[in-house]
Amino acid sequence: MDPQLVVIGGGPAGSTVAAHVSGLDTVMVEEHAAVGSPVQCTGLVHPRVVSLASASETVLNTITGFKLFFPGGRMLDVGSDEPKALVIDRRRFDELLSERAVEHGAKLLTGHRFQGFERTPDGLRVRLDGPDGPRYLGTPLLVGADGYKSGVGRGAGLGPCREMVRGIQAELDVRLEDQEKVEVHIGSNVAPGFFAWVLPCGERTRVGLGVSSGHGAPSQYLSALLKRRGLDGARRIALNAGAIPIGPPKRTVADNIILVGDAAAHVKPLSGGGLLLGMRSARDAAQTAMDAVANGDLSERFLSSYEDAWRADVGKEIERGMLIRKVFVGMTDKKLDEAGRMLDRDDVREILATGDIDYPSKLAAPLLRKVPSLIKFSPTVIGQLLRR
Ligand SMILES: Cc1cc2nc3c(=O)[nH]c(=O)nc-3n(C[C@H](O)[C@H](O)[C@H](O)COP(=O)(O)OP(=O)(O)OC[C@H]3O[C@@H](n4cnc5c(N)ncnc54)[C@H](O)[C@@H]3O)c2cc1C
Repeated sequence: MDPQLVVIGGGPAGSTVAAHVSGLDTVMVEEHAAVGSPVQCTGLVHPRVVSLASASETVLNTITGFKLFFPGGRMLDVGSDEPKALVIDRRRFDELLSERAVEHGAKLLTGHRFQGFERTPDGLRVRLDGPDGPRYLGTPLLVGADGYKSGVGRGAGLGPCREMVRGIQAELDVRLEDQEKVEVHIGSNVAPGFFAWVLPCGERTRVGLGVSSGHGAPSQYLSALLKRRGLDGARRIALNAGAIPIGPPKRTVADNIILVGDAAAHVKPLSGGGLLLGMRSARDAAQTAMDAVANGDLSERFLSSYEDAWRADVGKEIERGMLIRKVFVGMTDKKLDEAGRMLDRDDVREILATGDIDYPSKLAAPLLRKVPSLIKFSPTVIGQLLRR
C-alpha cells in the first residue's frame, strides 16, 4: 500500500517529523546505508536541544564559556558558572532519533536515494533508486528533510536559500587542557565571512571553520589554523566537509510538499547551528501533515499553516540573525579589532557571559547600552535590529 507520508532524509529533521506524525502510515527514506553517517556537524548545542530530543546519553562534554580571538591577536575570555552548551555525539544522536521514529511506526528505508517526483491525480509518484534499481512510491504528501542540497526543494521549485557557507572540520586525537571553553577565531585570514572553532571534546578535539563563497577552499584555511594552533601534528580521526544554508527561501511549501530543516535553511545565520531550529520546525511540519491528511487538503494554501507556524516560532530570531550577520560580514579585520578593543572590559564580559547560543540577538540591546559607540559599525542595520 502507498504510504500517506514520505519523508526524504533520515537526519534530525526527518526523524523528528516521522516520530511526531501519529496515525499516518509513513516511510522515511535515507540514501546512506545507515542513519548518522557521515557526520557533518560539530555537535555543539544548547542543553535545551538535548532535552528536546531526550538525548542525554549522547552528551560528551559540557562547555561553560568561550575564548574569542580577534584578527590582531586580542583574546576575549568569557566564562560562566553554568553549562552554556553541550557537545554531543552527532552520529549517536541521529541514530537515536531515527530509532524513535521507527518505534512510533515509521518504516525506514535506507540505501535508497530520492531521484524526483511527478504529479498524479492522487498526489505524487516519488522515484527512489536503491540497490535493486528504481522503486516508486505513491503518496499524497512528501516532506523534504534532505539537507542543504535538497533535491525535493529543487524539484518543487522552492528555494534556494539566500547564501551557502562551506564548512570543514577535523576531529583530532588530542586532549586540550581547557575542557570548558570553546575557542572562536574570526578574521579574513582565518575564516572569511564566518568563524573558526576549536572545541574540546575529552580525548578528542574538533577543529573547523566556515568560509563564505568567493574566498577559496575551506581546506586551506583549516591547514593554516591547525598550524597556527600547533595542532597540525595531531592524528586526524576524521575529516568532514559540508555546507551551511543561510537565510530561508521565500516559500517552504508547495502543493503536496513541505521542506524542513536544512532543506528550508532552518539554521541560525550567525553560528550555523541548525539542530534546534530544524527539530522545532519539524514538529510544526508533523502537525500540519496530520491536519492536511485528515482534511484531505494537500494544497499549498492548506500547508501554509506550517510555514506560518515555523516563522512565528523561529523566524524572527533567524531574521535578527541575518541582520547581525550583515553587520559582521561588513566589518574589515581592522574594524573587528576595534570592536574587540571596545568589548574588552569586565562589565562587557559579564553581559557576554549571560548570552544564549540560540538567541544571540538578545545581547544586542544590553551591549549597545554599555558600549553605545558600537552602533557606528553599521548604524542603519543595527537600528533595524533594535526595532525588531
Ligand atoms: C561543519 C558543520 C558544523 C556544524 N555544527 C553544528 C553544531 O555544532 N550545532 C548545530 O546545531 N548545527 C551544526 N551544523 C548544522 C547541522 O549539522 C544541520 O543544521 C543539521 O544536520 C540539519 O539537520 P537535517 O535533518 O535538516 O539535515 P541533515 O542532517 O543534513 O540530514 C539530511 C539527510 O538527508 C539525506 N539525503 C540527502 N539527500 C537525499 C536523497 N536524495 N535521498 C535520500 N536521502 C537523502 C542525507 O543523507 C541526510 O542523512 C553544522 C553543519 C556543518 C556543515
